[in-house]
Amino acid sequence: MQQLKKSSASLSTPPIVMTRHVLCRIMSTVAALPAETGGILLGPIGSDDVTGYFFDTTAQCTSVTYSPNHVLLRQKMKEEWLPYGIDFKGFVHSHPGTSAWLSGGDLTYIRRLLEINTDMNVFIAPIVIPRQFRIRPIVVLREQPDRPRETVLRIV
Ligand SMILES: [Zn+2]
Repeated sequence: MQQLKKSSASLSTPPIVMTRHVLCRIMSTVAALPAETGGILLGPIGSDDVTGYFFDTTAQCTSVTYSPNHVLLRQKMKEEWLPYGIDFKGFVHSHPGTSAWLSGGDLTYIRRLLEINTDMNVFIAPIVIPRQFRIRPIVVLREQPDRPRETVLRIV
């Protein structure tokens, strides 16, 4: 187990910085479809800004779970994103009803991705409620992977 480097009191919650274009694309895909669908959030290597989005039409979805197609994503990462300085920042997905919080399954999956992507300190995981056309900004910090945090969404 990794030791905590800072006390929880010193951890501040970073905002989600996202381009208007990405928000528009999320609203016209995930937010416009029945739950659960999702997409991958992308941005420049070395930054937490979200400047790109890939709507994952091949994800395995039921009404209660969203599982990204990790084979396809790994391939796109290697061939299309990393060579152009673009890295994985997290994922956005929708929940049915009005449940705008990460599930236990979501957190298990995020923890696994944080273990694989050792350079990620923040996992960006907003939830969309299609019925309300609403996006709730949530981040998971590497140092407290069991405690997702609500944050602010800053559109640039
Ligand atoms: Zn979920």
